[in-house]
Amino acid sequence: MARYTDAVCRLCRREKMKLYLKGAKCDTLKCPVERKPYPPGEHGRDRSRQGSEYLVQLREKQKTRRIYGLMEKRFQNLYEVASRTPGITGENLLQMLEMRLDNVVFRTSWGASRSQARQWVRHGHIMVNGKRVTIPSYRVSVGDVVTLSAKARAFIVVRHNMDTLDRQLVPWLETSDGGFEVKILNKPLRDHIDIPVREQLIVELYSK
Ligand code: SF4
Repeated sequence: MARYTDAVCRLCRREKMKLYLKGAKCDTLKCPVERKPYPPGEHGRDRSRQGSEYLVQLREKQKTRRIYGLMEKRFQNLYEVASRTPGITGENLLQMLEMRLDNVVFRTSWGASRSQARQWVRHGHIMVNGKRVTIPSYRVSVGDVVTLSAKARAFIVVRHNMDTLDRQLVPWLETSDGGFEVKILNKPLRDHIDIPVREQLIVELYSK
């Protein structure tokens, strides 16, 4: 499976904003966006001009894709599903991204970043309704109960994340069992999705 292996901070710098891809480092002065708030590369500073309509739409799509850590093909496939689903396509897309299992693990603060959350899933530490699920893109449903394995509950890094991350739980999730179990109460509404994207621009881009 294709995946991005280059330095992730470059992605934030390319979007000229923090995408919070690295966990704890993102809130420190070590964050490269704080020190170099312009796109990477030799001509990075020259790329700070406002672009065409297409470029604005493209950047919005890239930003969303990068926040959730999806490659282009997978993102496009998800868009196709969102466009066939009744409702507003852009909101459907964000809702499907939010309901990915790796995102739920990130939202519960078991993972400091979505990539760390993905790692917990891939390594078999996450159960959905009592069954181990190792597919980060698995889409949870309303009523599902997601739990952390007994082994992972003892991980220092998980405990550290849960104790130190100042991340408020989204209203469509409810935790129990000391925070090691989470229930999906509803599908997330747009107001509950706090990522700074204008999804309508993604729809316009793919509708061309
Ligand atoms: Fe992005 Fe975090 Fe790297 Fe800053 S530290 S550039 S927010 S991934």
